[in-house]
Amino acid sequence: MTHPVTSGPRSEAIFADSEGYFPGGVNSPVRAFRAVGGRPVVIRQGRGSRVTDVDGRELLDYIGSWGALLLGHAADDVVAALREATIRGTSFGMTTPYEVELARLIRAAVPSMAVMRFVNSGTEAAMSAIRLARGFTGRDKIVKFAGCYHGHADPLLAEAGSGLATFGLPSSAGVPGAAVAGTLVAPYNDLAAVQAIFAAHPETIAAVIVEPVAANMGVVRPAQGFLEGLREIATRDGALLIFDEIITGFRVARGGAQARYGVTPDLTCLGKIIGGGLPMGAYGGRRDIMDMVAPLGPVYQAGTLAGNPLVVAAGIATLRRLVDPAVYASLERETARLAEGLADAAARAAARVSVVREASMLTVFFTDTLPLDYGAARAADLTRFARFFHAMLGRGVLLPPSQFEAWFVSAAHTDADIADTLKAARAAFLEIG
Ligand SMILES: *Cc1c(COP(=O)(O)O)cnc(C)c1O
Repeated sequence: MTHPVTSGPRSEAIFADSEGYFPGGVNSPVRAFRAVGGRPVVIRQGRGSRVTDVDGRELLDYIGSWGALLLGHAADDVVAALREATIRGTSFGMTTPYEVELARLIRAAVPSMAVMRFVNSGTEAAMSAIRLARGFTGRDKIVKFAGCYHGHADPLLAEAGSGLATFGLPSSAGVPGAAVAGTLVAPYNDLAAVQAIFAAHPETIAAVIVEPVAANMGVVRPAQGFLEGLREIATRDGALLIFDEIITGFRVARGGAQARYGVTPDLTCLGKIIGGGLPMGAYGGRRDIMDMVAPLGPVYQAGTLAGNPLVVAAGIATLRRLVDPAVYASLERETARLAEGLADAAARAAARVSVVREASMLTVFFTDTLPLDYGAARAADLTRFARFFHAMLGRGVLLPPSQFEAWFVSAAHTDADIADTLKAARAAFLEIG
């Protein structure tokens, strides 16, 4: 593949330097552009819907820190809250009133999280929820779905979506067979497969963990009845249902996918948006389950910097803004316009794509069959995606550099931003032919 030069000379130089310090030049694999080729842009700053690279080029951003920035970059109230929090001291390793306030805001939106624990990443949240489910049920097995990503803890690194899909790795080296031996993998949206797994392993499965709207194989929506079916199957067997709402929480609705679809899990994982752009995760659920966590119960989990006042301040400032339903109404409207415009632009260029949208996230799959699972998502034409990615970047629009990631629209994206994006997309679809 050859690509137009879409990163400038300063990006090139800094990234070359970075490669000397970090594996592949990055601190998280997808940033390396391996799925699209070419050299990564290096970002200097961001404001609202835009980032500026080190060459001074402004880019309209749909990465949004992988969904964390629902309010956009450097939102005024988040920045002000961070300033104040920094002056008071960034970490005490003791309880503060601020974390209680953030928990109150979370529980008001997600009532199923009666009790919760704050951690430093989504990975920790999912890892801890799995440990807790195993401790609570006294069972070892877990069910996950191919293409769903729940962070990089050992038991969850089986057919784990985007980062791994991007590299075509079925799993990861360094994960002992024993760590995933209890992980049973079903195709997304396939209730019959889940039923068959439960029938083969009765009363030995601790939990089913699922992204209630999948966003790590590109956006794949739950089929009608899928989440309800999981709820029923888990309840009948005495297994827990865990919703990994690290992306969907506070994005697809203030109450997450569980509010949007009316299905209540036993445990929920949050991350990304609740940290307002700082490292954060949370897991929580029914009090009788959460009471198993130390110091009340025998399931151990701890964190030196967990719930620190800095990240919590960013979270509070973000979640306070999200109490206003107008934020979600506007996100829905803008993203619908974007999705419809993209489908229209593709049709005009006779480009065969499926645009899948859920609330303020979407994926343009380079396949004309609507993906309902990972197998179908993987049928997308990755070469054409890569060409589209570079055609958009060349026009000042920064998309996530993988077919298997979601585009994230923020509250800072304006009508004009969407119009600019669609103009770029019309030209890009024509350019790639
Ligand atoms: C991002 C993500 C994670 C992992 O969160 P990190 O903060 O990157 O560790 C887990 N689950 C889902 C659904 C995610 O999108």
